[in-house]
Amino acid sequence: MSAQETETEQTPAWRLLLGYIRPHRWSLLLGALLALATGASGLALPLVARELIDDLSHDRPITGALLVMSALVIANAAIGALGSYVLRRTAESVVLGARRTLSSYLLRLRIAAVDRSEPGDLMARITSDTTLLREVTTDSLVGLGTGGLTLVATVVMMGLVDPVLLAVTLGVIAGAGVVLGVIVPHINRASREAQNAVGAMGAALERILGSLRTIKASGAEHREEATIHEAAEESWRQSVRAAKWSAAAGNTAGLCMQIAFITVLAVGGGRVATGAIDVGTLVAFLLFVFYLMSPIQQVVGAITQYQTGAAALARIQEAERLPAEPASRPAPLPSPGAEPAALAFDDIRFRYAEDLPYVHHGVTFAVPARGMTAFVGPSGAGKTTVFSLIERFYDPEAGVITLDGRDVTDWELPQLRSAIGYVEQDAPVLSGSLRDNLLLGNPEAGEADLTRVLKTTRLDGLVAKLPQGLETLVGHRGTKLSGGERQRVAIARALLRRPRLLLLDEATSQLDAVNEAALRDTVADVARTTTVLVVAHRLSTVTMADRIVVMDAGRVRAVGTHRELVTADPLYAELAATQFLATA
Ligand code: ADP
Ligand code: MG
Repeated sequence: MSAQETETEQTPAWRLLLGYIRPHRWSLLLGALLALATGASGLALPLVARELIDDLSHDRPITGALLVMSALVIANAAIGALGSYVLRRTAESVVLGARRTLSSYLLRLRIAAVDRSEPGDLMARITSDTTLLREVTTDSLVGLGTGGLTLVATVVMMGLVDPVLLAVTLGVIAGAGVVLGVIVPHINRASREAQNAVGAMGAALERILGSLRTIKASGAEHREEATIHEAAEESWRQSVRAAKWSAAAGNTAGLCMQIAFITVLAVGGGRVATGAIDVGTLVAFLLFVFYLMSPIQQVVGAITQYQTGAAALARIQEAERLPAEPASRPAPLPSPGAEPAALAFDDIRFRYAEDLPYVHHGVTFAVPARGMTAFVGPSGAGKTTVFSLIERFYDPEAGVITLDGRDVTDWELPQLRSAIGYVEQDAPVLSGSLRDNLLLGNPEAGEADLTRVLKTTRLDGLVAKLPQGLETLVGHRGTKLSGGERQRVAIARALLRRPRLLLLDEATSQLDAVNEAALRDTVADVARTTTVLVVAHRLSTVTMADRIVVMDAGRVRAVGTHRELVTADPLYAELAATQFLATA
């Protein structure tokens, strides 16, 4: 995420916080009331104690007072425990809410937004920043509530005792408020930078773990280690900076109360001397100044604590601002039918971002329903981008893509994508069992379908070889599959969706000759009932295609059959002679 995105039109953090807290407002209120009740039942104790001493001195039995006292002590403990449980539970629910919202949001992000984000940083926002909402909800918000209430009550009492001395006290407190106003933004900024550094650390870790083999093979461990340590140290530096300012804020509050005490003593002494108030009033007022200490500390603590939360909220908000895919359309079309689809690109202009060069400069081609179309061209020509645009991972800047003559943007995204089977270049295997991987795109596929597809993609041999067959765990922490096996799993996954349009992006590049020949027959078979688009890299596949689209530098150069193109298009002739892997 770039720095400018950070600055644009921030709604205040507390608005976002309220959004997360609203569903839990009643349990939060209950928790706060229980906290207040604990305080109140504690205050009742001295009164009963006075009663008990009174009973003793008048030779009355003390059983009653003792019973009341025990009951009060037990009630105090029970209410206290219940209160802190309710508050803690509420805070955890707020964290849960934020995590759920954010992670659902992440799955709906536009690919373009993900392209420009650090996955590790996004992960830190969901896992680490949300955690900080816990303290904001309980300590900060409840502290502000209970501390604030006590503060107001005490100030009212002080006003009743002597308004003049109250004015003096408030003057001192206002002075401290000004100092706090200077300190608090520093805490906010340092907390923000500390969290950013945690995000940077997540990003570095993610990058390193994802390419550990290359790092080790390149002997770059020390340099990568330094990157992570730097991020960790930066987080430490900023957290220490925040701690420094928080300490200053806490002590400013303490100092302010000392000054208030001395000032009240001096001014009050003067007023006693002139006879404006009596000594008893001054003593009572000074006691109130002491009482004020604890709620003020509480409120200042809440405000400084809130700064950390606000910093986390700002980062959460940035993640929520990333552009998401449209959730649904006002008047959705009926789903595309089950027949093979015809596809057309009409003068598509596209670039991945506004600050990047155009990748498609007016790409136009049409593919009828059924049959196989091969896309060939030098690497970087824009072939993979064609497939990304069909799936609407990105939308073109100009031009129209149609499926069965209908603009692809007319459908809801899930509808459109349900018609397509897509094997991306370097398709990954996900963590989970082999079966999970195969059924990812169609969990309802039957056993018969599965067996058939395993056979046509020649995965039946692999399944027989694996210790737990289809239930063998693959991907992270499971059996690692070879490149060719991964590709066949990806093809099987796409076929199990029974797509109307099958997109294969160099999907057989890592297969050996025997498997490749078998898959070629499978694809030819599928192409009889489905529209198949392949980015091809082998002469054998290309020559088999019903039509070939030759792309170069973001344009379609020529369309035709192998026989036509070899004579008509010099680039194609050269590719055919030099680039395509001839299969024996
Ligand atoms: P091909 O599949 O023909 O090799 P691609 O469609 O993958 O080519 O890429 C075409 C151009 O677009 C390349 O110059 C590539 O660097 C660029 N490109 C591809 N994907 C992205 C992306 N996600 N963000 C920015 N540029 C990209
Ligand atoms: Mg490609």
